[in-house]
Amino acid sequence: MKGILSFKHCPGIKNIIGPVQIIMRTCPACGEEVEFFSDENETSCQKCGRTLHQEATSSCVSWCKYAEKCIEDLEKRKLLPNTRAEELKRLIEMK
Ligand SMILES: [Zn+2]
Repeated sequence: MKGILSFKHCPGIKNIIGPVQIIMRTCPACGEEVEFFSDENETSCQKCGRTLHQEATSSCVSWCKYAEKCIEDLEKRKLLPNTRAEELKRLIEMK
């Protein structure tokens, strides 16, 4: 699982972002605001304990029932390029 996640990350992206940042996400299960450190791949919601991935991956959208909400949240927060969001939404429809 770790290997699948790491190859999707451009190794140069950390240099663009710079020091660790706090990224806010909305928990798709309970709506709570969840803080991510930009170097974390996943964290859990303080309220409901659900594991959240910082990035919507094609492996997680294929099984996660919250994938659509998650992608919308990422899009709204400008954490996911439109083209990538469309691609992931197509994967959900195919399921
Ligand atoms: Zn939650």
